[in-house]
Amino acid sequence: MPEFTNLVAATGLTLERIARDFTPAVFASSLAAEDMVLTDLILKARLPIGIFSLETGRLHAATLAVLDKIKASYGADITLYRPQPEAVDAYVAQHGLNAFYDSVELRRECCRIRKVEPLGRALAGNKAWITGQRRAQSTTRAELHVEEADPAHGMTKFNPLADWSEDDVWHYIRSHGVPYNALHDQGYPSIGCQPCTRAVEPGEDVRAGRWWWENPDSKECGLHMVDGKLIRIKSVAA
Ligand code: SF4
Repeated sequence: MPEFTNLVAATGLTLERIARDFTPAVFASSLAAEDMVLTDLILKARLPIGIFSLETGRLHAATLAVLDKIKASYGADITLYRPQPEAVDAYVAQHGLNAFYDSVELRRECCRIRKVEPLGRALAGNKAWITGQRRAQSTTRAELHVEEADPAHGMTKFNPLADWSEDDVWHYIRSHGVPYNALHDQGYPSIGCQPCTRAVEPGEDVRAGRWWWENPDSKECGLHMVDGKLIRIKSVAA
C-alpha cells in the first residue's frame, strides 16, 4: 500500500516540522481513534510535543481507561486539564448537574466551563497546537488544511490527519497495535462526555450520537473555530 505508506510518512514529516519550527507546541488529544494515531507517531518518534487532554469530569470510564493504556504501551502520561471547580459548583448549584439537557444555552455554558476555558489554559504560551481533525469527517471540515492560522487562540493550528480517511485511521491502529477506546467497538464512532454521547445505529451519521437531543444546527462545543466562528459539526455521511 504505497499510498498509505506515503500518507504516514508525510504525517510524520509534518510532526517533525512542528517540533522543529513551532516549539513549544501541544497536541490536544480527545483520546479518540484519530488522536491515538497522532499519539503513536509523536511518542514513538520522541518528538518534543506536549500531549494533553481535557478531563471534563463527565467522561466515560472507558475513555479514562485509555490513559492507562497509553501509560502501559508508551510509558507516557497525558497532561490533564480540568475545569475550575468553583465554576462547576456554581453551574450545578444554579442549574443542576445535567442542565445541559434543558437548553442549548445551558449546554454551551457547560461546554464553556468544562472544555473551552480549560483549553485556553492548555494552549496558553504555545506557538502551535495540533488536532486530530480530518477533512472527511464533516462538510464543515471540507476546507480543512494541514496548517492553518488560528486567530482565536493567536497561534498556528495543525491538522496532520486532514488527508486521512477513516479506513486509513483504522488501518494504522490495527497494523501498529495502537491502543484505543473500547467504546469504538460498541457503536461509538464519535466520543465526548458520557451524558452527551450515545451509540449510533449502523448507517447513522457518525455524529448522531453527540448531543442527540439538539437540532443539528446547534451542535458544537466551541473548541474549534474558523474565521472567528464556531465550527458546526455535520457529517458528510448524513
Ligand atoms: S459535552 Fe455535555 S457534559 Fe461535556 S462539557 Fe459539554 S454539555 Fe457538559
